[in-house]
Amino acid sequence: MPTLREAPADAQIVSHQLMLRAGLIRQEAAGIYAWLPLGLKVLKKIEQVVREEMNRAGAVEILMPTLQLADLWRESGRYDDYGEEMLRIKDRHDRDLLYGPTAEEVVTDIFRGYVKSYKDLPKNLYNIQWKFRDERRPRFGVMRGREFLMKDAYSFDIDEAGARRSYNRMFLAYLNVYARLGLKAIPVKADPGPIGGDMSHEFMILADTGESQVFAHRDLVEMGAPGPNIDWFGDLEPEVSRRTSLYAASDEMHDEARFAAMPEEKRMTARGIEVGHIFYFGEKYSKPMKALVTGPDGKDTPVQMGSYGVGVSRLVGAIIEASHDDSGIIWPDSVAPFGAAVLNLRAGDAGCDEVCEEAYKSLTDAGLDPLYDHRADRPGAKFAATDLVGIPWQVVVGPKGVAEGVVELKRRATGERQTLPLAAALKVIAG
Ligand code: ATP
Ligand code: MG
Repeated sequence: MPTLREAPADAQIVSHQLMLRAGLIRQEAAGIYAWLPLGLKVLKKIEQVVREEMNRAGAVEILMPTLQLADLWRESGRYDDYGEEMLRIKDRHDRDLLYGPTAEEVVTDIFRGYVKSYKDLPKNLYNIQWKFRDERRPRFGVMRGREFLMKDAYSFDIDEAGARRSYNRMFLAYLNVYARLGLKAIPVKADPGPIGGDMSHEFMILADTGESQVFAHRDLVEMGAPGPNIDWFGDLEPEVSRRTSLYAASDEMHDEARFAAMPEEKRMTARGIEVGHIFYFGEKYSKPMKALVTGPDGKDTPVQMGSYGVGVSRLVGAIIEASHDDSGIIWPDSVAPFGAAVLNLRAGDAGCDEVCEEAYKSLTDAGLDPLYDHRADRPGAKFAATDLVGIPWQVVVGPKGVAEGVVELKRRATGERQTLPLAAALKVIAG
């Protein structure tokens, strides 16, 4: 836990400053980071929330390689079009490879190798894998990295109606992902590209440092996530259109006339961080790559595809932007690197050590994955470091309390403290 007193001068936004100060990441090159122990724990927890919600909505996890063959991208016609964001590599046999910026070509290649009939549809395959985009201006730490972790899912259906059902599942699953991460995400209309239609949305987290401008109906901003108890393979259209019928757009799709026609108190404008993007693109890859399926009529047609991305590593920064104070990060319980911290104010004192070890063991047994701080630092330094790294609960054990049979329990988010016996503190933490 290499914490820093001061943020390096080149970190411009609070999440980047706090990620460096709390020792979550270390920059190795522009837009390329090593994940230190605390940062990695948070990243893995976000990844797990995303995974659980994808699985719930019927998607199936795979893992595709980071290095891809240029020949696949020549098949889709994107190899030359993709431009300078693509990192191109040659192997020892002089073959063209690239570090994948996304995986439509690879997943289409996998799909066409196995699936030939509409009877095997729908399918949704996803992976959580590192991507590389040689961004012109990597900045804001993990927010706009060059190497970054993305969850990318790809749906396959026999027709557009099926693709819409797949799209709707992802639309609602995404809202549940962000809610579990303690975030309020607004689905805004996004550019559908040449195919047109209404099946393209970006998910925005409101934060002053966001790169996009968001315009939305307040009722949509206030609307809660659908929750897990959805009939995922039933008709999701009413639940989705309840949300998409309310105005929401980012700068590129903004329609000022429509926005201005809404009652003034319902108009919300704010900066937003894009943490996800879902869209339907039909036959864009399946046609040139010949991913054909036989329909009920016996005819072969290109499979209908959509793709669904979550910026997993960007979310670490986005969560901090949404949840911090002057003392540091305030992790939502769902992604906190540790569930609780046990602070031993006099390590080496037999009484303090004993209570701390008991607290550590009980918290471990309760599945809270505690951190035990038995460093010899001054109490003030320990408090500051624990606040900085944002652990939700602090169990503070000092000689005075031990003599009286109590510990101090602090809730990071509210700053609320109470003095109580260890067993009672453990009960409060367990909820
Ligand atoms: P942006 O407009 O921010 O460049 P994008 O449209 O290129 O995003 P997608 O290709 O839709 O992004 O990728 C899916 C998600 O991956 C995005 O919604 C975003 O959360 C995340 N993402 C994209 N580029 C980066 C990056 N350079 N660093 C970190 N996360 C990223
Ligand atoms: Mg981009």
